[in-house]
Amino acid sequence: MKTTKYLIIGQGLAGTLLAAELMERKAEFLIMDAFSPYSASQVAGGAFIPIVFRTLKKAEMIDDYLPSLFRTYHSLESLTSGRFLHLTPSLKLFRPDVRHQWQKAKETSAGNFIKEIIDQVNISGVKAGFCGAVIEPSGWVDTKMLTAKMGEWFLKNNLLIEEKLDYKSIDFQKDSIIVNGSIRAEKIIFCEGAGAIHNPWFGNAGFTLNKGEILEIEAPGLPADFIVRGDVFVMPLGNDRFRVGSTYDRKNIDHNPTEAGKQQLLQKLDAIISLPFKVISHQAGIRPSIKDRKPILGTHPGFPQLFIFNGLGSKGVLYGPYHAKEMADFLLYGKALSPMVNVSRYL
Ligand SMILES: Cc1cc2nc3c(=O)[nH]c(=O)nc-3n(C[C@H](O)[C@H](O)[C@H](O)COP(=O)(O)OP(=O)(O)OC[C@H]3O[C@@H](n4cnc5c(N)ncnc54)[C@H](O)[C@@H]3O)c2cc1C
Repeated sequence: MKTTKYLIIGQGLAGTLLAAELMERKAEFLIMDAFSPYSASQVAGGAFIPIVFRTLKKAEMIDDYLPSLFRTYHSLESLTSGRFLHLTPSLKLFRPDVRHQWQKAKETSAGNFIKEIIDQVNISGVKAGFCGAVIEPSGWVDTKMLTAKMGEWFLKNNLLIEEKLDYKSIDFQKDSIIVNGSIRAEKIIFCEGAGAIHNPWFGNAGFTLNKGEILEIEAPGLPADFIVRGDVFVMPLGNDRFRVGSTYDRKNIDHNPTEAGKQQLLQKLDAIISLPFKVISHQAGIRPSIKDRKPILGTHPGFPQLFIFNGLGSKGVLYGPYHAKEMADFLLYGKALSPMVNVSRYL
């Protein structure tokens, strides 16, 4: 039987980032993951942006999130010799009638991220008639490559068990828990993404799952040096490929790409892009979202050896690094969690 202090369930973005924080603190851990090509981290756009377009304010806690984001992804790039973090400015398109709102926003603290306001965007492939705001820092994280590279690294170091956790197998002993009949752990941290709704202890911790659909297109001639944003983002991947995302659907929680989802994305794309393009792929996944749109971290009130780190929702790339650190400090040093993210608000 394998034994460990911490057993992480799930090696999506959440489990990967938490494992990295445990590793940094030299804690003993194992990860158990049943890989699914449909999990959120395998299909995500991975985009991050420091401004909320609805309010034109800077994103909540962005001054804490950005330093963690840079530190974490750079350090995992060094560990695995991979490249996941792509710093790419965003060009947000808007109509001239709201230009004054952008000008006003530029004079607030959000203005630190608004590098330039353009009166008439004149860029090959982008429709005429838009103003634009250049936003920095912005970019995307290749969560598929990050989880793959880190998965290889965990496997090589005997830290990853490629198995599905059978919840029914969990056997509580005096000072430990036996899992799948083959692993003994002192503490379990659940990072199952949307799979958490099947979790008997945390399934009712405020989840309101959100399906997303996303396209990859080939569009020679579109700008490759920034992310164009209308009602969808058009993210350059290299070699004339672009990711276009995403839809939000709280009703149909499954992994099936739909014609309706595709048409919704194509219409929004057509509103901003004037060049011909070819759809290369169309995928769907489920975001592990929480009712109040904040992550969930913490302990189960009745089972102090069970923990959760989940609820990264539609902002996993930005939220993940900061809250993984918070979770690790809570687990190892008993540092209090922020009430904003503590699972106690639901359980
Ligand atoms: C279409 C789409 C677009 C998105 N775009 C963005 C974006 O632009 N920017 C952004 O920041 N975020 C985006 N997201 C959200 C982002 O993908 C998520 O916040 C993040 O990936 C969640 O990671 P996770 O580890 O919590 O979950 P997951 O990625 O779902 O990982 C959970 C892992 O746990 C495993 N697992 C589950 N149950 C078990 C079990 N019983 N036993 C063993 N293993 C198990 C799963 O197989 C999986 O490997 C998007 C999501 C979608 C679907």
